[in-house]
Amino acid sequence: MEKVAHGIWFIPGQDEFIPDSHTYVLGEPSTQDLSLIDPGLTGKASYKIQAIQKMGVELEAIKRVILTHTHLDHIGCLPEILEHLPWAELWAHEAEATPLEQGDERTVYGMEMFRSMCEMQYGLKPGAFARTVDRHLEGDEVLNIGGMKWQVIHIPGHSMGGIALYDDSRKTLIPGDVVYADYAIGRFDLHGADPSELNRSLTRLAELEVDILLPGHNRIVKGLAPGYIRETAKQWEPYLV
Ligand SMILES: [Zn+2]
Ligand SMILES: [Zn+2]
Repeated sequence: MEKVAHGIWFIPGQDEFIPDSHTYVLGEPSTQDLSLIDPGLTGKASYKIQAIQKMGVELEAIKRVILTHTHLDHIGCLPEILEHLPWAELWAHEAEATPLEQGDERTVYGMEMFRSMCEMQYGLKPGAFARTVDRHLEGDEVLNIGGMKWQVIHIPGHSMGGIALYDDSRKTLIPGDVVYADYAIGRFDLHGADPSELNRSLTRLAELEVDILLPGHNRIVKGLAPGYIRETAKQWEPYLV
């Protein structure tokens, strides 16, 4: 686990034949009010819990898990993570929280073929991710958590309830799978995806001043070039109709 900035830790995903999302831990340690962003793929909880402990972060300080979205590579090890953090709340955007609570896992798997493959690979049963989401986010909230202020931005397109977290004082953006480094963006062919919404979401993110980009996969970037997201959106615009 790497410290990206004060109050921001990064645990890289460990990809297998399915990618494992990066996990971020946010919050000033002294507040004992930390948030874990995106647990990751099925089977990755013990690796991530160990990484957190190695950094000297007390598990008791982690008060909630926030999901950028509910794809399997981000939510897969949530049940395992919550065994280590049984007190933690779960926060996610309303558009994916409600289906999750109802046991509708179409967003988790994205497509039927992938569902049967994962159920076989990981022994997952239907309803494995059904659980209460303690806080349904709507977008445009400012979360005062762990001595930091994170703005929630609803960025559908890759999935219906995708959110970004943005800290304007540190110019730090956690965009889930909507935009990555190296002019890459998230796929827009899974359940609930919508290319024109993705285009609008990229345009919205392009308005932000971003210095540190902490995406769901691939490399993180410190010292992001000004206009990077705008340029990425421009390159992809012809495909996002
Ligand atoms: Zn992902
Ligand atoms: Zn995704």
